[in-house]
Amino acid sequence: MTDYDVVVVGAGPAGSIAAKTAAEKGLDVLLIEKRQEIGVPVRCAEGVSREGLEKFVNPDSKWIASEIENAEIISPSNHKVVLSAENAGNEVGYVLERKIFDRYLARLASKAGADVLTKTSAVSFKRENGTVKLGIRSMGEFSEITAKIVIGADGVESRVAKWAGIDTTLKLNEIESCVQYLMTNIEFDDDTTYFWVGRKYAPGGYIWLFPKGKDAANVGIGVMPSLAEKSAKWYLDRFVEEHFPEGEIVEVVVGGVPVKGAIDTAVADNVMLAGDAARHTDPITGGGIINAMSAGHHAAIAAYEAIKAKDYSKETLKRYDEKWKSDFGESLVRNKKLQEKMMRLDDPTLDRLAKSLEGMPIEEMSVRRLAFELFKKHPRLLWDLREFIV
Ligand SMILES: Cc1cc2nc3c(=O)[nH]c(=O)nc-3n(C[C@H](O)[C@H](O)[C@H](O)COP(=O)(O)OP(=O)(O)OC[C@H]3O[C@@H](n4cnc5c(N)ncnc54)[C@H](O)[C@@H]3O)c2cc1C
Repeated sequence: MTDYDVVVVGAGPAGSIAAKTAAEKGLDVLLIEKRQEIGVPVRCAEGVSREGLEKFVNPDSKWIASEIENAEIISPSNHKVVLSAENAGNEVGYVLERKIFDRYLARLASKAGADVLTKTSAVSFKRENGTVKLGIRSMGEFSEITAKIVIGADGVESRVAKWAGIDTTLKLNEIESCVQYLMTNIEFDDDTTYFWVGRKYAPGGYIWLFPKGKDAANVGIGVMPSLAEKSAKWYLDRFVEEHFPEGEIVEVVVGGVPVKGAIDTAVADNVMLAGDAARHTDPITGGGIINAMSAGHHAAIAAYEAIKAKDYSKETLKRYDEKWKSDFGESLVRNKKLQEKMMRLDDPTLDRLAKSLEGMPIEEMSVRRLAFELFKKHPRLLWDLREFIV
């Protein structure tokens, strides 16, 4: 078949959920993925919140590497703040096995009735008679497919965004540069995620350790290139040497995480963008899996309504903008502002804040309450952040 209601470009979490949802609504759907294996190579630390994940799928031990109970935040001088799962909210949950998870989601799309093609890239795009002619290269062969609607779920380097003329440009301070090692032969609690903060560790970002079972963990870093004097790899290597000198690196991941906040619009005539393509990642944590899935879902519903109305114009598809903005758009805006302010906190300030929590019943406090207590203790230090705390 070469005529589809919806062609979804990219079989990451955004694309597979979009294809699944659209197919469940009875639309003719094609999901294409340029890589020959869905989910490989993984460019992710694989952490998701429990609540977010369970909105879309029932957790399955086949693709859950670890269940997390605590999050430990470590300041530059080694003061530790430990948050329990209950109180940390979105900060802890599961560490996924994305190689299996992404394939599982694509299988759900296929089961719902979507056609799925791997080793198939979208390579050209033109609008014609109110539809899109999408050029694809599948197993080396070029052909053209007609789509009423294209959902661009093609990740951080989205070509669909450029073709459609949607402005998703990233300035130098809107993308974190990341490197991650899958490490074995290191010590950690397998129910805890760890975050090392401060310029000493990761200028404009943080270092993370996310357990993958008992014997391995994702140890990675995100830095803001405009603040870092060296490369992300340089800071991570120094950290690994100091903290895990006996550790073995068995996999390396390199990638960029958009931290732009909310874009004005993720739609154009016949086109919607979802997930990293639409810069839907959280500017503070860099987490994007759950927002990508939510966006994919909203885009598919908007596609269904547009197709029912036989109107694929930007005006009609703007309903999708309304949906993702009311779902998580506000938190992108708020967290972008907060991220910019947090990046200005220097290491002695972070140490003072972490130290002042010693002896407090942190395990009983929510993140918001914790922030409030910190503000009470250090109103002058945190005056700049007051709108986010009180
Ligand atoms: C180092 C690192 C660590 C991260 N850690 C976390 C984390 O712990 N938790 C979290 O929630 N998020 C994390 N993220 C972010 C997360 O990985 C992304 O937000 C998420 O994968 C976005 O999903 P997506 O479906 O939008 O895009 P992707 O998962 O990037 O999927 C896009 C897909 O489109 C395909 N594609 C691209 N172009 C084409 C084309 N022309 N034709 C066909 N297919 C195409 C790609 O091959 C890819 O499979 C991390 C990112 C990085 C780089």
